[in-house]
Amino acid sequence: MLQQEKRAYNFNAGPSALPLAALEQAQKEFVNFQGTGMSVMELSHRSAVYENVHNEAIALLKELMNIPQEYHVVFLQGGASTQFAAVPMNFLAQGKKAGYVLTGSWSEKAQKEAKLIGETYVSATAKETNYNRIPSFDELTMEPNSAYLHITSNNTIFGTQWHDFPDTGDVPLIADMSSDILSHAFDVSKFALIYAGAQKNLGPSGVTVAIIRPDMLERAVNAERIPTMLRYDTHVKNNSLYNTPPTFGIYMLGLVLKWAKQQGGLAAVEENNRKKAALIYDVIDASNGYYKGHAQPDSRSLMNITFTLSSPELEKKFLAEAKNAGFVGLNGHRSVGGCRASAYNAVPYESCLALSQFMKDFQKNNG
Ligand SMILES: *Cc1c(COP(=O)(O)O)cnc(C)c1O
Repeated sequence: MLQQEKRAYNFNAGPSALPLAALEQAQKEFVNFQGTGMSVMELSHRSAVYENVHNEAIALLKELMNIPQEYHVVFLQGGASTQFAAVPMNFLAQGKKAGYVLTGSWSEKAQKEAKLIGETYVSATAKETNYNRIPSFDELTMEPNSAYLHITSNNTIFGTQWHDFPDTGDVPLIADMSSDILSHAFDVSKFALIYAGAQKNLGPSGVTVAIIRPDMLERAVNAERIPTMLRYDTHVKNNSLYNTPPTFGIYMLGLVLKWAKQQGGLAAVEENNRKKAALIYDVIDASNGYYKGHAQPDSRSLMNITFTLSSPELEKKFLAEAKNAGFVGLNGHRSVGGCRASAYNAVPYESCLALSQFMKDFQKNNG
């Protein structure tokens, strides 16, 4: 049996902490899944036992996120990064332009891929203040003939998060939700397409989830020229079984969803996330500037908490001592430096409490 007390204080940005209950369940049935005498990894993806795992995960995601019944949920591969290309390939028609709200490195990368396919424009950007905020709805521009508007709901590297979503009317709203999907309840029906790599909140790396409004399949352009695997309708029509899906990852994702349901669903998950993030933001805010949060308060992410100390030397000392104290993954992303605590769904409250105490003690001893 794994032991709770031997688990690290894991603040990794992704892949990241998974719920202990999900890991232990997987451990229990690792070599003999449901009396088959086989691991989930050894099952045929066409077998009834596997298909049940697969369909249960889809149904549970729909239930937890309150996804409208008619929406499609598909499991893809290639990470969110492949979706950066698949989105414009499928939806950016000639003569149309795709709008991108730039809120960090991931949205820049998404736009870069779209530029390979067609015309894009920047709907709004927060680059001039080093992506420390989410633009207000008033700042968003939408050009006529927009193919879609693309946003990044949580900015993993800079630590900002959209707390509300714009109404884009007839223009399909598309979101990369890789780092905050399943972390709070929101109205999925505002979106035409949501995609997310699983490795932050949903499960292990290797699975990408896409949630697709049915009319988007009809909006798809140049379908005959898009490689089969990159067409959304391929995966919708085949219930994500066109080719061999990442079966073990999908099984793990299902266990993570069961855990989330056991927590009380997304309302409970969100409440816990708020409490966890508050523990750390409160220390930052009460530190008299000793710790400086990167994100403007109203744009703060509940998932990725980014902060700096007064000098790179002090940050180095902080990170070294944190490492010795058992904290993992607190280095800021190489592109922004400083520190980052990623408190995804599966990071226990106790880890955040321990970090907040560590931060207070560090300030006291190094003030
Ligand atoms: C991690 C991350 C990605 C990259 O995902 P991959 O699955 O590694 O391609 C993209 N977007 C956001 C918001 C992320 O947090």
